[in-house]
Amino acid sequence: MNFDTFSEPLPRRLAAGLTRLAAVARQLDWRTAESEGLTPTQGDILGFACARPAGVRLAAAAAQVGVSNPTASDAVAALARKGLIERRPDAADGRAVAIVATAAGRTLNARRPASFETVIAGLDPVEQETLLRLTAKMIRSLQRAGAIAPQRTCVTCRFFRENVAPGSREPHYCAFVGAPMGDRHLRIDCPEHQPSP
Ligand code: SF4
Repeated sequence: MNFDTFSEPLPRRLAAGLTRLAAVARQLDWRTAESEGLTPTQGDILGFACARPAGVRLAAAAAQVGVSNPTASDAVAALARKGLIERRPDAADGRAVAIVATAAGRTLNARRPASFETVIAGLDPVEQETLLRLTAKMIRSLQRAGAIAPQRTCVTCRFFRENVAPGSREPHYCAFVGAPMGDRHLRIDCPEHQPSP
């Protein structure tokens, strides 16, 4: 008997496992958000705004979180009523509105645990480093396919020099910081990110 003859294809089994992990993470998000009086969408939008102190447009927040503009608008209205978000004129276009986290919003966001930290807690540091590299690779692939909104990750950044010192512990280089990087240093949401051409 050969397992290849009756196993489901590898991508199918990987997808099933990742779906389970995402469901666990989402349940943890629900619990955390509820304990703070938020929905998961409100929590996601608050976190997105906190990572962008200059403010962010509603459509960008909706694309990042993966909801429609009306759903994001409802979530922002609820966050504003709770004093966690402010709506201001956008710095780049005074006719547009940007959402900005308030001090209370940043404080609440800082104490919210990241749900996936629980999910990956069973991996050792080397495994987590490998997973970080693979995660960045999957994000780049999805972005190139137009399946997700542009992300501020190293592998899509014009300052990133990939694998310029092959075989070393720090094979990459960040031209913004001016320093070598290892896979363990890869960023998923870097404030200094600038899109590669
Ligand atoms: S600027 Fe940020 S995103 Fe760009 S390569 Fe450096 S650390 Fe990575």
